[in-house]
Amino acid sequence: MRYYSLNHNAPEVSFKEAVIQGLAPDKGLYFPQSITALPAAFFENIEALSNEQIAFEAIRQFTGDEIPEKDLKEIIADTLCFDFPLVKVEKNVYSLELFHGPTMAFKDVGARFMSRCLAFFNKANTNSKNTVLVATSGDTGGAVASGFLGVKGVEVIILYPSGKVSDIQERQLTTLGQNITALEVDGVFDDCQDMVKKAFLDADLKHKNLTSANSINIARWLPQMFYFFFAYKQLKSKGKSLIFSCPSGNFGNICAGIMAKRLGLPIAHFVASTNVNDTVPRFLEKGNYEPKPSKATISNAMDVGNPSNFIRIQELYDHNLEAFKKDFSSYSFTDAATTIALENIYSNSGYIAEPHGTVGFLGLKAEMQKQPNSVGIFLETAHPIKFSEVVEPALKIKLPIPKQIEGVMNKEKRMIKIKTYAELKAFLI
Ligand SMILES: *Cc1c(COP(=O)(O)O)cnc(C)c1O
Repeated sequence: MRYYSLNHNAPEVSFKEAVIQGLAPDKGLYFPQSITALPAAFFENIEALSNEQIAFEAIRQFTGDEIPEKDLKEIIADTLCFDFPLVKVEKNVYSLELFHGPTMAFKDVGARFMSRCLAFFNKANTNSKNTVLVATSGDTGGAVASGFLGVKGVEVIILYPSGKVSDIQERQLTTLGQNITALEVDGVFDDCQDMVKKAFLDADLKHKNLTSANSINIARWLPQMFYFFFAYKQLKSKGKSLIFSCPSGNFGNICAGIMAKRLGLPIAHFVASTNVNDTVPRFLEKGNYEPKPSKATISNAMDVGNPSNFIRIQELYDHNLEAFKKDFSSYSFTDAATTIALENIYSNSGYIAEPHGTVGFLGLKAEMQKQPNSVGIFLETAHPIKFSEVVEPALKIKLPIPKQIEGVMNKEKRMIKIKTYAELKAFLI
């Protein structure tokens, strides 16, 4: 499969090159040259297939002949080492739980898949070495640290803002050691992100083969299609029109869902649910795309002012706004509304959500008022323990610590403190 840059000013590349580069040289996101729908029989028989078989069919056209069938199957088996249960919350409303992986956030799927692809490419060329450089506001860092731990030929450097990530999140990215280094930046997330962007453009660092592990990287983005298929497989009422609501920050998840639809998955409608960082809902309402600096909220993994994958979504709809609006709605919710909904979900159904999933729930309910005869699924993107500072006081409960989290609680945190880009550069060299 060939990939082109959405800035249309860079050469087409292979899957391998797109993964290794992350972003095209013209700073555009890579996009596959063709998307071929899967046969109808695949969807008719989906219940008989294992998750690994489904994932293989969904992704094979995108890796093409660059990863042999046997190796791709191994990568998938290694990626999907946990469950993706669909849990009924109320009549016709389901939570798709994506948090049963090693760091208890959906990002485990993409991080594991991408790291194993890089390891495969490095196996064929033992001289090559890559450096994954990533800025995190919380969840990405942990998933990338865990997903890349011990992967040969790959060094991982994670920048996180001092004092802005939760204790659990900090532990997940500072306690692993080996090929993972955490840099604690005296600043906010945007400072970390700016330093990473600067490093990618710095000619003095070319020899380091820097790549990103955010959803701009196709090997992190594309495997996020998998769990839309897994949800459909588990759904009993397949006759009804199906709505997915994704709590959205960089819009990687929802964009992967739209890819699944293009592969033939019968999804009638998508809802991008956001917190007050509402660039996309404002765009749909007013027609002009005006990114703003991000604001801090209780669903902090969605505090994104300029969602990087929105351009891929527009490409999927050939930049046809009318066609796009038929399939897609977007709603924004305040922290106050989210906290009330978190409490209501718990008191009405006993289900313990967390702030991101709750924003997804609210968006789903808003759309289902317009489309009452549908069945809706919201993505629960993280385990409530990761946001226990919000969940425990709101629900007046104490959450037990899951074993994945227990594993990092007693280990020593190790990080290097930096303040400026010059310090980052000196470290990299
Ligand atoms: C990253 C993240 C999101 C946002 O996902 P995008 O693909 O960036 O839209 C939502 N919830 C949680 C818990 C996350 O970690």
